[in-house]
Amino acid sequence: MTIWVDKIHEFFSGDINEDVLTRKNFSHDASMFEMVPDVVVAPKNVSDIEKLVKFVSENKHQYPALSLTVRSAGTCMSGGAVNDSIIIDITKYFNKIGEVTSKQANVQPGVYYRDFEVETLKHGALMPAYPASKDICTVGGMVGNNAGGEKSLEFGKVEKFIKQLKVVFADGNEYIVKPLTRVQLIKKMAQDDFEGRIYKEIFELIEKNYDEIKAAKPGVSKDSTGYHLWDVWDRETGIFDLTQLIVGSQGVLGIITDITFKLVPKRKHSGTLVIFLKTLDDLGEMIVDVMRHKPATFEGFDSYTLALSVRLFFGFRKTIGWGQTINLAFRLFKSALKIVESMPKMVLLVEFDGDDQDDVAQRVHALRQDLVKYKHEAVFEEDETEMKAKKFWIMRHESFNLLRSKVKDKHTAPFMDDLVVPPAVLPKFLPEIRDIINKYKFFATIAGHFGDGNFHIIPLMNIERKEEKAKLEPAMKEITQLVLKYGGSLSGEHNDGMIRGPWLKEMYGEKIFKHFVKVKKIFDPHNIFNPHKKTDADWKFSMRHLREKF
Ligand SMILES: Cc1cc2nc3c(=O)[nH]c(=O)nc-3n(C[C@H](O)[C@H](O)[C@H](O)COP(=O)(O)OP(=O)(O)OC[C@H]3O[C@@H](n4cnc5c(N)ncnc54)[C@H](O)[C@@H]3O)c2cc1C
Repeated sequence: MTIWVDKIHEFFSGDINEDVLTRKNFSHDASMFEMVPDVVVAPKNVSDIEKLVKFVSENKHQYPALSLTVRSAGTCMSGGAVNDSIIIDITKYFNKIGEVTSKQANVQPGVYYRDFEVETLKHGALMPAYPASKDICTVGGMVGNNAGGEKSLEFGKVEKFIKQLKVVFADGNEYIVKPLTRVQLIKKMAQDDFEGRIYKEIFELIEKNYDEIKAAKPGVSKDSTGYHLWDVWDRETGIFDLTQLIVGSQGVLGIITDITFKLVPKRKHSGTLVIFLKTLDDLGEMIVDVMRHKPATFEGFDSYTLALSVRLFFGFRKTIGWGQTINLAFRLFKSALKIVESMPKMVLLVEFDGDDQDDVAQRVHALRQDLVKYKHEAVFEEDETEMKAKKFWIMRHESFNLLRSKVKDKHTAPFMDDLVVPPAVLPKFLPEIRDIINKYKFFATIAGHFGDGNFHIIPLMNIERKEEKAKLEPAMKEITQLVLKYGGSLSGEHNDGMIRGPWLKEMYGEKIFKHFVKVKKIFDPHNIFNPHKKTDADWKFSMRHLREKF
């Protein structure tokens, strides 16, 4: 038993687990990394978390390796939810849904999104920034990573839907964090306490470097890297919104205990145009044509994903059940001719939604008409009722999960899993990224949010083999340079964690990186929250903690 765990028993009302099996179960997430924690605790209430934070702060000098890492559902792909020392399992007791209206919803961070959605839909509303992992992740993890998904093209990411957070800061107290007016900010900064100091120092940091910080915002529609300092303080509006630093901070600045989301009305109908693309030659121009129609969603996946999904189709039963799987298999059979006819290099899904079914069908049809000029490069399937295209949406949502569980001889290795470039450069970017994939002989599936230029490229690798592992660093260097050449970001949704944290300096340059380091120092002066992530990440450390046995 770790000696300091005895002391936690003295004040903690929740569960404390040190057994080998629990620690092993919490040692990995959906990333490439593994670290076995000393102990896994499940706090029963906010007071438990406050006392735990105070305990770690007070004992850090005596036990320098002490730290706190919150873990929700553990589906993070960048290693944000793994660490040594203390893991806080937030799903066990922080799983209540509070007041929900058609405009906003209060919820604890450990609630699974799928359960939260059931409640919001009762009010005809939705928090639309849900990820493809919406059935297996929690709302706390979504805020932690600043998640996004298929509806982000229209609505943006989680950062756009935060009304208010409650956060336990490093002094061991819970605070309300929400947008402040100039007058409220001045009052806050005048407080002679830890909270007041955070507001004052963050304000001064941004004010002093205002133009440089605003200019550092990545020029893409989605980003989950670094700390979004550029979205905190706006001189024009006079609004100071500290939630914009907490969202996407992967639990390195504090522990979120309560979330109030803004909601949008759920539209009644949707329809999809499925495009089986025979070549990628005209993809760039086609994207521009599609975007002119202002779709709600514009997603896609490559031939490898399609082939694997067809081969492993019955594996989807775990998420959607036997009934739906058989139904969809039958529908897939009906589309087989189109698939065989086109032998698609890429399957694109363009979705429109609205409250009038005819209007939706009309928009699907209008897009098809507009794309007739590509009839030699593509085969189309119109779905005005959500049914025909469903099998492809399931492939898009579930393929990565299926790969993780089904392909036994190799493992998914997410390191180039979340690249973003401006959609206009895709015709140049896609062949160049394919060259890198080929050069390193990666077998990789590509799926993505085409409208945002955001791609999930997931190689299947034997990471335990030395020669495979040796590819990671040079490949990462080339990918980073390529993405930066096109003014992109290394992560649109999955965040930095242990995999991209070490590349933040390269992406943002020395000056902005220093500001990020300062942010961490202001919030967490003794580095008690989730070390080895984001600015605290170190490539060598990360590589020493690769998960080699699955
Ligand atoms: C199959 C699959 C598909 C995916 N698709 C997408 C996608 O489309 N879009 C996308 O954005 N992501 C995607 N992801 C990544 C991941 O599922 C999401 O980012 C998800 O929101 C993480 O939620 P979680 O509950 O699993 O969080 P965890 O993995 O447990 O945690 C994520 C991060 O948030 C921090 N955190 C969790 N709770 C708190 C809290 N209470 N306070 C402070 N910090 C906290 C953790 O420390 C960690 O750093 C996918 C993952 C998988 C496996």
